[in-house]
Amino acid sequence: MVWEERFYAEPKDIFSIRLTCRKCQASSTIPLGDREYIPETCSYCHEGWFTKGSTDHKYLTWLLQSLIGLRRRDTDALCNIHFELPGHLNMPNGT
Ligand SMILES: [Zn+2]
Repeated sequence: MVWEERFYAEPKDIFSIRLTCRKCQASSTIPLGDREYIPETCSYCHEGWFTKGSTDHKYLTWLLQSLIGLRRRDTDALCNIHFELPGHLNMPNGT
């Protein structure tokens, strides 16, 4: 038998999107609700994280805006939304 643990997160459980610069290793956390755009450069070393108009930047901006919209979802909605996550996560900083 294989036992796998899963977590189910609702949109309101997601607090922020975190970006870590591959050049200087600094992290930027974008809290959901503060702003609805993703920075294109590192605020510490100013390395460009995304090419202007790139698909990556568009998808990440849409994800941020979608998460913000889903957090504001009407409590009378007729279904619940959950994101399924593995029980053991591999964190980007190795912790
Ligand atoms: Zn940087």
